[in-house]
Amino acid sequence: MPGSPIQAVFFDLDGTLLDHDAATRAGALGMISRYRDRLTDSDERLVRRWEELTELHFDRYLRGETTLVGQRRGRVRGLFGLTPGELPDAEADRAYAVYSDHYDLNLTLFTDVIDTLEALRGFRLGVITNGGSVHQRKKLAGIGVADRFAAVVVSDEVGVAKPDPGIFAAACQAMGAPPSACLHVGDRLEADAIGARDAGLWGVWLDRHDAGPGPAGVTRIASLSELPALVRKG
Ligand SMILES: [Mg+2]
Repeated sequence: MPGSPIQAVFFDLDGTLLDHDAATRAGALGMISRYRDRLTDSDERLVRRWEELTELHFDRYLRGETTLVGQRRGRVRGLFGLTPGELPDAEADRAYAVYSDHYDLNLTLFTDVIDTLEALRGFRLGVITNGGSVHQRKKLAGIGVADRFAAVVVSDEVGVAKPDPGIFAAACQAMGAPPSACLHVGDRLEADAIGARDAGLWGVWLDRHDAGPGPAGVTRIASLSELPALVRKG
């Protein structure tokens, strides 16, 4: 599907390299346990609500409707069912820190990551991720793979988030390769695969949950293990 031989391979971070869902769940359970006396629902219902609130408020942040800190406070207040007057910023921040500590402690790489990165030696590798600069870079360093990537591009630093073509253009430029010689793989069909395709890269959708088949002009894989052969075949 690429226009020229692939020189650079970009990876999304959360849900692609890192098991973000498992860490989110562990983080939520840690926070729920700490504040059990203030929450009435079952763990399962609260975790589900946290996941929905995370999606909702993080998307608002990516659209520029709130700040990184603002979306965190919004998620916490949503979980507790409290207004800003009832749950002041400092208290919301304390609860979020409990979540964040548990999240970070439970963050792991998917099992297909290391072998894939090894098999792609010789290609320039990079990361394109939506989120806050400090936390995304800390996560990458924490799981011990940061030095494998020649470029790490975070939406917070670029000023636009995937699927905006601007972030893909910035990444290709950082890597010194034209978009037609770059591939981007990620678990979000719209933000990652379609966004990359529309920016002139080879867009690959990592469909770990078998939701396929995906639209035209996008390559679908079920595991990162399929990537090295794909890149070499071009
Ligand atoms: Mg992702």
